[in-house]
Amino acid sequence: MKAGAFVSILFGCCLPLLAASAETSVSDPYVEPRLRMVREQMVARGITDASVLAVMKRVPRHLFVSSMLAHSAYGDFPLPIGENQTISQPYLVALMTELAQIRRGDKVLEIGTGSGYQAAVLAELAEQVFSIEILKSLGEQARKTLDATGYGKVKTRIGDGYNGWPEEAPFDVILVTAAPDKVPRPLLEQLKPGGRLIVPVGAQSSVQSLQRIRKTPTGQIVKEDVIPVRFVPLVRQQ
Ligand code: SAH
Repeated sequence: MKAGAFVSILFGCCLPLLAASAETSVSDPYVEPRLRMVREQMVARGITDASVLAVMKRVPRHLFVSSMLAHSAYGDFPLPIGENQTISQPYLVALMTELAQIRRGDKVLEIGTGSGYQAAVLAELAEQVFSIEILKSLGEQARKTLDATGYGKVKTRIGDGYNGWPEEAPFDVILVTAAPDKVPRPLLEQLKPGGRLIVPVGAQSSVQSLQRIRKTPTGQIVKEDVIPVRFVPLVRQQ
């Protein structure tokens, strides 16, 4: 066994005791798994934005999955949320949020509300958050969860997010949590100059690329490939 592994086992036994006295509350039995998630899945993989890490330590991910899966909510994997959809792996939520470089005062649009978890994370950082979900049952459930967990400020809508939310455009940030084959033109159009569009792009048959697309102050589009990813498809309303 390597020294590093040994140290982490020692820490594994001591830290929960320290954390238990300082941070565990009766109403939230998942404080320690959440802090461990941030340490082992996010900090260890290079997420450095302090405000993103603070939010990931705070948002109760276990309340955004079915109670049967709550004990797995802080694991290093996506989880089913019904209708063949998934809540993204925690690391991806943190990475996409970090890439978005959200500032207080920003207006943010999410495509693919799903469980509402990513929207809650965004709501902790941005002034206004709008989120669109195409599947009615998921959109309705997410609305209830967001209200019940104190994220009532997130505005939600059922519909095809391909077209964005024209009445509320333009946005500082647009974050897409389902993969289109190509970047939807309406979303580029609804980005403010200086804005960031975070989107996994590519066909379902292949690996997709998580892209950060910036609209420069003069309106030019600059694309950056960040990492290969796998997301559920962005489907179109018939
Ligand atoms: N952000 C979510 C995870 C979403 S999974 C969370 O934090 O839980 C992707 C979601 O995108 C699914 O719920 C899927 O139904 C939705 N989706 C797929 N195509 C869409 C479209 N065209 N418009 C809006 N939502 C879409």
